[in-house]
Amino acid sequence: MSSLRFKVVEEAFDRKAVPVEIPKERPEVYYASKVFNRQAMYRYLPKSAYTALVNTIDNKQQLSRELADSIAAGMKKWAIDNGARHYTHWFHPLTDGTAEKHDAFIEHDGKGGVVEEFTGKLLVQQEPDASSFPNGGIRNTFEARGYSAWDVSSPAFILDETLCIPTIFISYTGESLDYKTPLLRSLNAIDKAATQVAQFFDPAVKHVTNNLGWEQEYFLVDEALYSARPDLALTGRTLMGHESAKNQQLEDHYFGAIPSRVEAFMLDLEIECHRLGIPAKTRHNEVAPNQFELAPIFEEANLANDHNLLLMSLMNEVARRHNFRVLLHEKPFAGINGSGKHNNWSLSTDTGVLLFAPGKTQMENLQFITFIVNVMAAVHKHNGLLKASIMSATNAHRLGANEAPPAIISIFTGTQLASILERLEHSTQDEMIDFATKSGYSMGLAQIPELMIDNTDRNRTSPFAFTGNRFEFRAVGSSANCAAALLALNAAVADQLNDFHSKVEKRIKDGEILTHAILEEVKALIISSKPIHFDGNGYSEEWKQEAERRGLDCETSAPKIFDAYLSTESVEMFARTGVLSRIELEARNEVKWEMYTKKVQIEARVLGDLAINHVMPVATRYQSLLVDNVVKLRSLFPDIKANRLASHDLSTIEKISEHMSVIKSEVDQMVDARKVANRLACERERAIAYHDTVVPRMETIRYHIDKLELMVDNEMWPLPKYRELLFIR
Ligand code: ADP
Ligand code: MG
Repeated sequence: MSSLRFKVVEEAFDRKAVPVEIPKERPEVYYASKVFNRQAMYRYLPKSAYTALVNTIDNKQQLSRELADSIAAGMKKWAIDNGARHYTHWFHPLTDGTAEKHDAFIEHDGKGGVVEEFTGKLLVQQEPDASSFPNGGIRNTFEARGYSAWDVSSPAFILDETLCIPTIFISYTGESLDYKTPLLRSLNAIDKAATQVAQFFDPAVKHVTNNLGWEQEYFLVDEALYSARPDLALTGRTLMGHESAKNQQLEDHYFGAIPSRVEAFMLDLEIECHRLGIPAKTRHNEVAPNQFELAPIFEEANLANDHNLLLMSLMNEVARRHNFRVLLHEKPFAGINGSGKHNNWSLSTDTGVLLFAPGKTQMENLQFITFIVNVMAAVHKHNGLLKASIMSATNAHRLGANEAPPAIISIFTGTQLASILERLEHSTQDEMIDFATKSGYSMGLAQIPELMIDNTDRNRTSPFAFTGNRFEFRAVGSSANCAAALLALNAAVADQLNDFHSKVEKRIKDGEILTHAILEEVKALIISSKPIHFDGNGYSEEWKQEAERRGLDCETSAPKIFDAYLSTESVEMFARTGVLSRIELEARNEVKWEMYTKKVQIEARVLGDLAINHVMPVATRYQSLLVDNVVKLRSLFPDIKANRLASHDLSTIEKISEHMSVIKSEVDQMVDARKVANRLACERERAIAYHDTVVPRMETIRYHIDKLELMVDNEMWPLPKYRELLFIR
C-alpha cells in the first residue's frame, strides 16, 4: 500500500558508488589552486602592493585606498584567469551558515558593450541590501543599511565561478551583525592579553595566535530516503521513528570499513577542500551508523573557522553529486549518538611556543602551568556563558536532554596534570621559592614532557578536556558556527590573563621577584578554580548533583541558558575586552531567542502535519482492517469462539484507538500552546513558552507515533523507518 516508501528504499539500496574524477597531479600541485594566497598575490600584484598587503596582514595595519585599487586589479585578473565571472562579499550573518550576493564583473564600456571591472572600493566595502538578516532590533528600517568590509586576514577564494571575499558585516552605527566581527575582536584581545603574560617568560614575544582544529561530525542519508521524510527535509532531524532493533550497540561502525559510496563522497569532498586550501586530513566512521567525521590540520582560528563554514556548504554540494544528503543537525536520530564539532583550541607565540604544551625547562613549565590555570579560572568564572555560547535549539537535543553529555561545563585535566596542580597547591612558600630559583629542584614539573606523551588518559564525557597540548571544547554543536564558542572563550581567557598580569605586576612593584609573584598567583587560581575541575564520569546522575553543590551553572532550558550572555559578569567582561558591547549582546540574545522559537515552531508544525496527515490515516486504515476481520470472524463462528479468536485483534484495535486519541488531543493542545506563546510580545518569554509548553507535547506525540509504528502493518507505514534510513549499503 505504501508504495512510495518501498520504492525509495529499493532505490537507495540499489545505488552504487559514483565515480570520482581524481586529478592527475598530487595534492601538493592543486592544493589551494582556488585561493588568492601569498603565492597568487606575489604573481598577480605589483611588488610594492604585494609587500604592503603582506605587511597589512601580518601587522594588522590599515590599508590605503590606492593600494586597494591595485590589489583589486590583481585579484580580478587572477579570478578571471581561474574562470570566475562573479564576485561576492562572503559573510557570516547571525543565522546558520554563510551569506553571499553575487555581482558580475561587467560594467558598460560606453560603446554599447561591456568590460570586466573590479575596483578597490568594491573590494574593501559594500552595502548589500541585506535588511532581512536577523539583527535583534539594531537596525530599524530607516537605517537598515548593513555594511560588509573586507577581512584581509582570510584569503579570497573561488567557489564555482564566483570570487568570494571574506568580510565582516556591521550596521550603519558600527555594531556587529555577524560572527566574524566579534571573533576578530576576541582574537585581538587574546593576542594582547596572552602576549603580556608570555613576555614574563620571554620578552621577545610580540604576538600570540589562537589556533583552532575542528572535528566535523555528520550523518549521511540517501537522497531518496531523505526526500520521503518531510521532517528530515524541513527540520534536519527525524521528529518520529522507532529505534532500529540494531543500531550502535555492537559498536561495529566506529572506525569500521567505510562503505564504498561514502568513501567516494569523502574523496570527492577532500579534493574540493584541498583546491580551496582547506587542509582536510582525517576521515573515519563515527560511533552511530551512518555517522562520519572529517578533521583538518589545525590553523589560525579565523581562517580555520572560515574553512569550517566553507566545508559545511561544500559538503552539501558534494553530497548531492553522490545522491546523499548531509545531516549537520546535532541530533538527527533519537536513541543513537548525536553530532558535535570538537574545537581543539590552543595558543602559540610568534616565537614558536605552544602555550598549553609542557616544556623542557622549569621556566617553560611554569609558563605552561600559568596558561593552564588561567584557562581553568576563566572557564570556571564564565561556565554559564560558555554553555550559552554552544547552546541552540538544535544542540539542546544533544546536551542536557535524555542522552549525555549534560549541559554542565567542567574541565577534564587527566591524572598527570591534576597531580601537578595538587602539588603546587600544597607547596609551601619556601618550596615555591626553591622551585623558582634553584635549578636542581623540580617539583616534578621537569618530568612533564615525558609523562605527557602518554595521552591515553582520555575522558570522552567531558565537555572541555585538556589533551596534552591543547584544550578540546567538545560541547560545540555540529551545525554551529565555531565563532560563537571561540569568541566567548577567547574573551573570557583574555580577561582572566589581563587580571593575572596586573596582579603579578603589582606584586613585582611591591618588591617580589617575578617567579615568586607568578607562583603565588598561580596557586590562588588553582584553589579558586577547583570547582570546574572534574575528571569523573560526566554522564552520571551523581555529577549533576555534585555540580549543583559546586555552584556550577546547571540550567537545562536553552532560552534561559542564553541569559548568561546578559549577566553582569558577562557584560562587564565583554566590555573590558572590547569584544561585544551591551547593545550588541542584547541584540544577539533577541536573535537567539527568536531563532529558538522559530526552529521549535517549524518542528511543531511539521510534526502536527505528519501526525494528522500521515500517521493517523494509516493507523485508522489498519484498524479498520482489524475491525473487518473481527466482524468476519463473528459471522463465521459462534459468539464465544469468535470472541476468543478475535481477542488479539480487539486489544490491538483498542490500543490503536488510545494512541490515536492521545495524538489527536496533544496535537490540538500543541497548536493552542503555540497560539498562546505567539501572543507574547517579548522574545525571551516566547522562547521560554515554546520550551516549556510546546516541546514536551512534541515528545509525547512522538512517543505515541513510535508505538503505532510497531503495531501498524509494515506494508502500510508511510515513512522510511530508522532501520532503512540508517544503514548505507
Ligand atoms: P582526536 O584524537 O581527538 O580525533 P586528532 O589528534 O585527530 O584528535 O586531532 C584533532 C584535531 O586537533 C585536528 O584538527 C588537529 O589538527 C587538531 N590539533 C592538534 N594539535 C592542536 C593544537 N595544538 N591546537 C589546535 N588544534 C590542534
Ligand atoms: Mg578530538
